[in-house]
Amino acid sequence: MQILDGKKIKQEKIEELKKEISTLKRKPGLAVIQVGDNPASNVYVSNKEKTGLELGCNFEYIKFPEDVQEDLILATIDRLNDDMSIDGIIVQLPLPEHLNKEKIQNRVCHKKDVDGLTDINAGLLMHNKDCLVPCTPNGILEILKYYDISVSGKNVVIVGRSELVGRPMFSLMLNNNATVTICHSYTSNLKDITKTADILIVAVGKKHMITSSMVKEGAVVIDVGINRADGKIYGDVNYEEVKDICSYITPVPGGVGQMTVLSIYQNLLKAYKNNNLDM
Ligand code: NAP
Repeated sequence: MQILDGKKIKQEKIEELKKEISTLKRKPGLAVIQVGDNPASNVYVSNKEKTGLELGCNFEYIKFPEDVQEDLILATIDRLNDDMSIDGIIVQLPLPEHLNKEKIQNRVCHKKDVDGLTDINAGLLMHNKDCLVPCTPNGILEILKYYDISVSGKNVVIVGRSELVGRPMFSLMLNNNATVTICHSYTSNLKDITKTADILIVAVGKKHMITSSMVKEGAVVIDVGINRADGKIYGDVNYEEVKDICSYITPVPGGVGQMTVLSIYQNLLKAYKNNNLDM
């Protein structure tokens, strides 16, 4: 079994990205809007800021109180959409209940939607057209490419159908000529399906739900899950059991999560280039 080392790939790719960004006419700009003081969101935003500054990007951080009015967020997005120094806009999730998440997400101009979460980018991805692809699926494909693991013609099983991971992963794998099956909480024979996977991608949010009896011998296992328990982080896959059966596996932490932040800045560079065609 070989470990798919997200940390190592990130370090290498960060250097490449840093070099390319240093040649641009101006620094790419990323704006992040956060509402409230969710501790996990604070950590994610601070990681984004740290990576952005390391890469030589500008970072605008806008933090609203929990009870902010929706109109103020929409007006801020309009302002950022029109700002030529801003190439990417992220609305940090989750948002409080009183806000219309869909309306807010779709207010972001799709050309600046570096999270790839607008309906326009989701539709473009589904139609296999050029777009900004959601960061976690993009990062997963990058891991597979780095280790020369071909997707074409493979049976790929995805567990989880969220807008953030499962659905865009489905489109991305299909666009790369895999035969794809997607499972969710209503899937009745999960084990029978996961056992058919050459590549098994799990994004559910349940600690160690994938056990050795659910994995085919020699499969590639990608664990997206981040589950916090007793001060540690655990994946959705029972790593200790599954590592002896599979051919490749991503560790948690140190696997997929590492690639997600990197993908944001790869998307930011893409957005910058698309928006500065006179370069
Ligand atoms: P989510 O929106 O909560 O979606 C979870 C999905 O799992 C849903 O589609 C749900 O099905 C499905 N599910 C729940 N129980 C199931 C079961 N028993 N069998 C099969 N499917 C089941 O979660 P998410 O945003 O995709 O995130 C999933 C996990 O990945 C979380 O732990 C999250 O923290 C992590 N994550 C990590 C990264 C990273 O960078 N590493 C990025 C994003 C997310 P239904 O649709 O039927 O409800």
